[in-house]
Amino acid sequence: MKRSMIDSDIRRQLQPEIEKFQRILKRLKWFGQLSRSRSKLLNALNPFNYVSMGTVLNLGGLSGDFRYKILKPMFVNFLMATNVFDMPAALFARYLEFFDIETATPMQTWDQGTQRIYRELSADFRDKIYLGRPVRKVYRGDSDVVVEDENGQTETFDEVIFACNANQTLMMLDKPTFLERWLLSSIRYESELHNHTIIHSDASILPDTDVKELDTRSNHIEQYGARPDNYEITYIMHNQQPWAKRSDKPCLVTYNPISRIDEGKIIKKWWFQHIVHDVRHVTLLVPMFRFVQGKRRTWHCGAHTLINSQETCFVTGLVTARQLGADYPFQDPEARKWFNFYGRVMYGWRLRKA
Ligand SMILES: Cc1cc2nc3c(=O)[nH]c(=O)nc-3n(C[C@H](O)[C@H](O)[C@H](O)COP(=O)(O)OP(=O)(O)OC[C@H]3O[C@@H](n4cnc5c(N)ncnc54)[C@H](O)[C@@H]3O)c2cc1C
Repeated sequence: MKRSMIDSDIRRQLQPEIEKFQRILKRLKWFGQLSRSRSKLLNALNPFNYVSMGTVLNLGGLSGDFRYKILKPMFVNFLMATNVFDMPAALFARYLEFFDIETATPMQTWDQGTQRIYRELSADFRDKIYLGRPVRKVYRGDSDVVVEDENGQTETFDEVIFACNANQTLMMLDKPTFLERWLLSSIRYESELHNHTIIHSDASILPDTDVKELDTRSNHIEQYGARPDNYEITYIMHNQQPWAKRSDKPCLVTYNPISRIDEGKIIKKWWFQHIVHDVRHVTLLVPMFRFVQGKRRTWHCGAHTLINSQETCFVTGLVTARQLGADYPFQDPEARKWFNFYGRVMYGWRLRKA
């Protein structure tokens, strides 16, 4: 399923820069071995953890066209990370180990998406899970935690785990400590660009060209307006997630929609915010979380405590459950090593290893 992602005109025009970038990337990947070692010490020695990708691109003299026509669309499309050039160069290069800059990379995906994992994981205790019941406030006492929902109803628990975004946690926490307030308010979110999405089956918004995007491509990206990184992006989900092929309709997700989408074919509209993984976040804020974890019966997981991707966020929840005493139920040795590595990033020496 390897396919050229870059429009051939742009490729011809920017070929020298693509080659230059590939050379830079090779160097970043060489240093990346330190991060792949799963040693926190070796990882800390990678100098590109402390330099943003924007700085590397500036030093390399790469143009705005290369950044906004080639590099950024790859990231907004696959990882929905805005401010991508603020990311540490090491993390940026790590993402590109999964997504080649010139060809579409087949993705390993979960059959029926993440929803199935959560459904099966909670099969034995579904009656204990409240859905559609937003939390308004969390009050922590010496011996328990009182959670108040939006209707003012309360429930009492032993501990609380926040799995929502950091700014949402801060709004819910009653009397946060100084460290909690500083840490949670230091996490940056981008909610101005690429923050609306429509899930639909209206294929008429894709151009009718020889490429036959509906059958062959993973995505379609259109830049519009004055801003070079204003994109409408349509993720052609059924081409990348084989299970979605079973549908008799196209499975499309359009971000930042400006094209007219047939209302009758819309399944859902959604708003979201992206976490900004800048150098400060990765090198300072993530390691600081261990100093609030477990304090005052309160735990945190999710993108801001590790890395923004479905799999790593899922792992943050598992690691936190393990800290609270849960078993590690999986057998795969490689998965276990990564679990322990991510767990150490979150909890340091206090991690209850798998
Ligand atoms: C459009 C888009 C596309 C993406 N595509 C990919 C992809 O292809 N692959 C990939 O790996 N990652 C992708 N990601 C990233 C991935 O979805 C995130 O990294 C991951 O979902 C973050 O997990 P989380 O648990 O931190 O937060 P979330 O998944 O955002 O979960 C937080 C939850 O908290 C809930 N919440 C908030 N406030 C309250 C409250 N007061 N009371 C109760 N509940 C509350 C929210 O409703 C939400 O369900 C994408 C993200 C976006 C936005």
